[in-house]
Amino acid sequence: MATQDTPQHSQLQSTPATQFAGAAQAPAGPFALPPLPYEPDALAPYVSAETLALHHGKHHRAYVDKANKLVAESNDPDLKDTVVEHIVVRAARNPGLMELFNNAAQAWNHSFFWQCLTPAGRKKPSAALARKIDADLGGLEGFAKKFADAAAKQFGAGWAWLVMDCGKLKVVTTGNADMPLVHGQIPLLTLDVWEHAYYLDYQNRRPDYIKAVIQNLLNWEFAEANLEHALGKRA
Ligand code: MN
Repeated sequence: MATQDTPQHSQLQSTPATQFAGAAQAPAGPFALPPLPYEPDALAPYVSAETLALHHGKHHRAYVDKANKLVAESNDPDLKDTVVEHIVVRAARNPGLMELFNNAAQAWNHSFFWQCLTPAGRKKPSAALARKIDADLGGLEGFAKKFADAAAKQFGAGWAWLVMDCGKLKVVTTGNADMPLVHGQIPLLTLDVWEHAYYLDYQNRRPDYIKAVIQNLLNWEFAEANLEHALGKRA
């Protein structure tokens, strides 16, 4: 393994989304479709049951199935791995595996994304995360503005993320399936801004979708768990 792989892989062992790697459904490969962590209508009216049914049951399922199929068809020993983050990062570094990367990363991104939303969470982060947001992003209002602006300005399909990068919180975006683990960043929260995430509910009004999620659905408890993970890995 190239030495440049080592630091990032050491961060990838146990991100919270890993728990989905072995989820039920008898997956035909390393990727699994996790059940939604809430009822399908729980996020309404901000994200409708119809959107969730399609987004989780069709889009996410298709990424999982395709990623597993591509892994099964491959003879590459690097892909015979049960840690899905390893497969995503290895595929990202091999131009010949772009189709696998796109589907594997999207499978991971969606498993992470469902946990970033909650109908019943605190509307503010805990003191520890709030202090970090104050220091690095200008407070919760600063975070909300940066996150909303980034999500709205991401041209075409992609994701907005709150990440830890070299010990600092940052708001970043990625295009299409791209994701922070590939860039050595640890994700705390994400928002899917592909059109399939909001078009049924908001049509072309992406900023309204972004605002509704930030104000009502962000799962700060999940972000805090990811921050603790990030700080633990850094220590
Ligand atoms: Mn999506």
